[in-house]
Amino acid sequence: MSSSATPVPRRARITQGFTFEAAHFLPHVPETHRCRRMHGHSYRVDLTLEGPVDAVTGFVVDFFDVEAAFGPLLKQLDHYCLNDVEGLENPTAEIIAAWIWDRVKPVLPLLSSVRVYETPFSFAEFDGD
Ligand SMILES: [Zn+2]
Repeated sequence: MSSSATPVPRRARITQGFTFEAAHFLPHVPETHRCRRMHGHSYRVDLTLEGPVDAVTGFVVDFFDVEAAFGPLLKQLDHYCLNDVEGLENPTAEIIAAWIWDRVKPVLPLLSSVRVYETPFSFAEFDGD
């Protein structure tokens, strides 16, 4: 049996999930499309960060720092009508993911993807392209 400590991995990918409730409607779908009507979702957002693991802390990024970076955005989204939020006039999951990316990436440069779930079974993922 080895007595040496588990080595720190060189790189890793971490994900932190958040949830919020919000209303929206999609203004560019046909009148007959159900998403044209105002409705709500229990959104889930997964922020994934990828990079070198710090040899001392053992972290890519401290989850507390991810929470601190996303907190102000969560306040802007939770229990609002997303169409009223600047930049989210057409709040599809794809556009919400890009909106979040634009605001989190400058604070957390190791951000590698943003997933926005409208339901447990459907999400859009944006990675900056
Ligand atoms: Zn919807």
